[in-house]
Amino acid sequence: MTVRVRFAPSPTGYLHVGGGRTALYNWLFARHHGGAFILRSDDTDAQRSTDEFRADILDSLGWLGIDWDEGIEVGGSHGTYRQSDRFDRYREVAEGFVASGAAYYDAATSDDLKLIRDQATASGSSPVYDGRHQLSIEAAQHRVAAGDPPPIRFAVLRPGETRFEDAVRGEVVFDHANVDDFVILRSDGSPTYHLASTVDDVDYAITHVIRGEDILSSTPKHILITEAMGAERPTYAHLSLLNGPDGKKLSKRHGDTAIRAYRDAGFLPPAVVNFLAILGWSPGDDEEIVSLQDMVERFELGSVSKNPAVFDTTKLEWMNGVYIRQMSPEAFAIELGRLVAGDLGRELSEAETQSLVDLAPLVQERAKLLTEVAPQVRFLFVDELEYDRASWDKVMATPEALAVVEGARSALAGSEWTHQGVEAALRTMLDEQGLSARKGLQPLRVALTGSSVSPPLFESIVAVGRDRALERLAVAKKRIG
Ligand code: GLU
Repeated sequence: MTVRVRFAPSPTGYLHVGGGRTALYNWLFARHHGGAFILRSDDTDAQRSTDEFRADILDSLGWLGIDWDEGIEVGGSHGTYRQSDRFDRYREVAEGFVASGAAYYDAATSDDLKLIRDQATASGSSPVYDGRHQLSIEAAQHRVAAGDPPPIRFAVLRPGETRFEDAVRGEVVFDHANVDDFVILRSDGSPTYHLASTVDDVDYAITHVIRGEDILSSTPKHILITEAMGAERPTYAHLSLLNGPDGKKLSKRHGDTAIRAYRDAGFLPPAVVNFLAILGWSPGDDEEIVSLQDMVERFELGSVSKNPAVFDTTKLEWMNGVYIRQMSPEAFAIELGRLVAGDLGRELSEAETQSLVDLAPLVQERAKLLTEVAPQVRFLFVDELEYDRASWDKVMATPEALAVVEGARSALAGSEWTHQGVEAALRTMLDEQGLSARKGLQPLRVALTGSSVSPPLFESIVAVGRDRALERLAVAKKRIG
């Protein structure tokens, strides 16, 4: 059997981090087994589906590095892989069910259904619709002819139960006493999620359905439809939901929930992938940093936890820092340079990129996010510094500031232009003035980089170059007054 899995987002929102994890687990499972990963679009809801969300889902998957073998955009032997193009197929299956007795046209009105709910509430039982208002085929045909087609419901056998072995959760049993005769085709001819999703899974020969636990209670319905189609059930795996660090269901209150927000905030795709991968899956040995190749080799549904996973952005930031440190100085400088260039509105020259390469190891050491670092290296690429106000006010108002800035000008005018040369010249100058490095260096940092937060000072000064450094000291002196 060739493994075939799918990710089936509805383009009714940006790709959520939970969706990103579901996509990743499907992808890892397919790659592990040498199977096919399929991307389809569950876009039956024309009102809520938008091109913007469609594009975001594809962009976000692409950014994560998740590719698909069949599906929207790339094609395959099953048409467009968009549900909105398959309404005829869903209707055909629904009508086939009516013909075989697996489903029926139904005349229940919303008042009828409300009455059933009220009675159930009163008697403490579950409000299950049992088909008591079903229509004969002739009566249904009259309604169709009159322009008022009735919906089609699936006939659930009661008493009865549906049982399956979930690859993550173990055995799951649903008593049909709690499963409605559910609508599969609405009166407007549109399929419900249950019908469209299951028909696609059968038609596309999906072997494993890996998806969120929010859908678990729909799975007996999907199994009933699958069997009524005469098809074999896929294996189901329901992934636990994501919680915030406070143990409550992940929501915007906990921070951003769209993958795109993490891209925009400067996270590295491999860090996000690693973070999503270990949200509920354990590669074993308590390891947390896992290469993509290792994930593919080791991924198994059996080692996915059924407990809710905690989405903790502090941990993601830490992990991003780990991945930043794993980058070569060249790769880091290119990524960082791209951000800085965007910010400056111009390309960086080769020499400028080289200055980032030189500083890279020092910056990488402490960085968590590229977007956090970009403003800290901007001083290398501007003619005129913009001073961070708070930094200036804090250190330039001190009595030592002027003396240090003046002393640094003569010290740097004659020093050797290396890290050691610059450092020695400045330390001697501070000694002569009887100032500690802690006090004396901060004004220089602000004068030369514009902020009291910068990469290590001596290397930064070397990177600025002697002429610009002397000029900046002159400007600062004037500004101090
Ligand atoms: N379109 C459904 C969703 O986005 C897919 C669920 C499933 O995988 O069956 O929740």
